[in-house]
Amino acid sequence: MEQTDVVIVGSGAVGLCAAYYLKKSGCKVTILEKGGIADGCSSGNAGLIVPSHFVPLAAPGVITQGLKWMFNPESPFYIKPRFNSDLLSWLWKFSRSCNEAHVQRSMPLLRNLNMASRSLFDELEEVLPVNFDLEKLGLFLLYLGDKGYRECIEMVEGAREVGLNAIMKTQEEIRTIDPAMNCLAKGGAFLEEDAHFTPAKFNQGLLEWLRQEGVVILPDTEVTGLLTSNKRIAEVETSRGNFSADEVVVAGGVWSEELVKSLDISIPMQAGKGYSVTYRTDVKPRYPLLLAEAKVAVTPMGENLRLAGTMELAGNDLSINRRRIRAILRAVPQYIKNEPVMLEDAQIWAGLRPCSPDGLPYIGRSKKFFNLTIAAGHAMIGMSTAPISGKLVSEIINDGKTGMDISMLAVDRYSR
Ligand SMILES: Cc1cc2nc3c(=O)[nH]c(=O)nc-3n(C[C@H](O)[C@H](O)[C@H](O)COP(=O)(O)OP(=O)(O)OC[C@H]3O[C@@H](n4cnc5c(N)ncnc54)[C@H](O)[C@@H]3O)c2cc1C
Repeated sequence: MEQTDVVIVGSGAVGLCAAYYLKKSGCKVTILEKGGIADGCSSGNAGLIVPSHFVPLAAPGVITQGLKWMFNPESPFYIKPRFNSDLLSWLWKFSRSCNEAHVQRSMPLLRNLNMASRSLFDELEEVLPVNFDLEKLGLFLLYLGDKGYRECIEMVEGAREVGLNAIMKTQEEIRTIDPAMNCLAKGGAFLEEDAHFTPAKFNQGLLEWLRQEGVVILPDTEVTGLLTSNKRIAEVETSRGNFSADEVVVAGGVWSEELVKSLDISIPMQAGKGYSVTYRTDVKPRYPLLLAEAKVAVTPMGENLRLAGTMELAGNDLSINRRRIRAILRAVPQYIKNEPVMLEDAQIWAGLRPCSPDGLPYIGRSKKFFNLTIAAGHAMIGMSTAPISGKLVSEIINDGKTGMDISMLAVDRYSR
């Protein structure tokens, strides 16, 4: 049986960042990945670092809006109607978190996680052997009409409340700041602390650094069970034989719920499917954008432009719905002048966001098994907060003390 200090299950951005900080602290680390390295949700996403995402997914108004959108096949949010007890139980918990008190409690924490991570990206840019196109320029949230305008104003007010720099800009001002954007939107909110990068290059940089440092990384190695003894994980059972480690980290994205279910640990999770379309073009904004009404992200990534959007709760299903891809493509030219996208020359991708019912990730040690740490459920901010999540995992494992209060992220919060 293979023996190591720490086994990490999952090689998404969260697992790779945990490996990075654990290795830096002197641990011998092995990563077990059932598929290809960083091939899950962490590859084709919008690559935004988002201190501006300080409102959790579970917020007042989301359910009413979601119900309205459910009957529109091109809407940015969709719940596939089905009788599934896990989905119903998740929706019940989600609805209980959709209140102002929960939002107010979560805002400073989400801001702190994103801002701490934003700083860690600087260190990673220095250290990693691959340039991952990190740009700390800010982001524009663009609007077309009254509804989008209200969203921008609320965003600016909320951002200022949590100490971020945000300001409304007119169409003319945006055109002066970024002529390459060819802004057609009426105006937008400028969110100064947001940033962007190319996710696949970031993952590649981490992977190369980890390999150079001697971290063992095993693709095509599925964890099939966690065997326990005396309140600890004694063995990690895999498709390549068993592993034993002093510490086990579950960073399996949306699949994490299933992994710990047999241990009687409940981390409710639904897959929030999203799509991206990436294509090479010279016509692109310098700044990343969020399109308020359409809920589409537009990110310049080196020579490419990536359009990303939709949130479909349809189970762990990666099939591509062309109508929603077309809806993303149709939205963009309303906000900026861009070239028509030739789908045959574009990369179309789908990924499953790991969504917890309260919109907060699960990060922490299990109370039931003292050598088990979980880092999963990051939903829409998993790239942005991967570095701080990895650092927190390393702090938890090394001395149990974390640099910030993460009690709201407790992994046992839904367990009996
Ligand atoms: C369209 C879209 C746009 C997005 N844009 C952004 C953005 O701009 N900014 C941002 O911060 N976030 C964004 N996200 C969200 C972000 O991509 C995710 O939150 C993040 O990638 C989750 O990382 P992870 O490491 O937890 O999961 P994953 O990347 O899914 O990694 C989990 C890994 O665990 C492996 N695994 C699971 N079970 C097992 C097992 N039993 N044995 C071995 N291995 C296992 C999986 O194969 C997978 O590789 C976006 C998501 C989507 C879909």
